[in-house]
Amino acid sequence: MRLDLREIIEVPGGSKDFECELDTERLDFPSIRAYQSRPFAKGRVYNEAGVLHLEGTLTAEMTCICDRCGAEFNSVKELPLRATIVEEESEELPELFVLDGNEIDLDELLSTCFILDMETKFLCREDCKGLCARCGKNLNLGPCGCGKEIDPRFAVLEQLLDK
Ligand SMILES: [Zn+2]
Ligand SMILES: [Zn+2]
Repeated sequence: MRLDLREIIEVPGGSKDFECELDTERLDFPSIRAYQSRPFAKGRVYNEAGVLHLEGTLTAEMTCICDRCGAEFNSVKELPLRATIVEEESEELPELFVLDGNEIDLDELLSTCFILDMETKFLCREDCKGLCARCGKNLNLGPCGCGKEIDPRFAVLEQLLDK
């Protein structure tokens, strides 16, 4: 979606609300199996002393896959949005978003915010115990029969020694 900012670009104190659903095509991550609905953003762009700022919230409901144990889990991400929109690209401040004429490409801006905030690890819970390196059992469901827990680095070594 493109947002026309004509009416506030030259108007300090001006403000324009927006609501926008995001196309999930560009938001494809290996650890996200599906979006339960289209990510949704709501907020406003306002002109403060001649500078355009965007603020709002982006909400995404996702089905994710735990990087450690492989289980599926549901996750709701609520991302506070903050961005500055400028008229011309600046090499010194590449993180700013640039107006295209009187408009801003909201899809691009929101997708970028979403991607930049994406967690590097998807875990079903913070203390996910993962899978036993020897038997593959999901250790969140209880201890396996292997006895002591094995450091995955040693497990590889042990497999070699078994041969
Ligand atoms: Zn897990
Ligand atoms: Zn085991």
